[in-house]
Amino acid sequence: MAARDRWQARDRDDEAQVPPPPDLCWLCQRVLGEHVDRYHPVPKSRGGRASVAVHPICRRTIETVFTNAELARSAGAREVLVAHPEIVRFLDWVATKAPDFDAPTAPRRKR
Ligand SMILES: [Zn+2]
Repeated sequence: MAARDRWQARDRDDEAQVPPPPDLCWLCQRVLGEHVDRYHPVPKSRGGRASVAVHPICRRTIETVFTNAELARSAGAREVLVAHPEIVRFLDWVATKAPDFDAPTAPRRKR
C-alpha cells in the first residue's frame, strides 16, 4: 500500500492494462462529448443504483433495443448488451461519428 505504488501505476507504459478513463462512454467506449447522459445499467425500478456515463444516443439506443426486464436480467453486464445484434450494428455505425454526434434512434410518439 505504499504511496509510490500508486505513482508507478500512472506510468504511461501501463496504460494498456488499466481500465478506460471515466471520460469514455460505457457503451461504445468513444470519448464523451459535451452532452453526457447518466445511464443505469440495472434500471432504478429494479433496484439498480450505479450509473455510468454514456452518450445520449447510446442511452437511447439501449432503451430502444432492450426492455427494462431484459436490462434487469443482464444485471448491468456490458458484454450482454454489446452481444446483441442491434447493438453490434449500432456500435459499428457510431464508431466513426464525432463525440457529440446525435440522431433520432427511434420513431417518436406523435403528440
Ligand atoms: Zn457512446
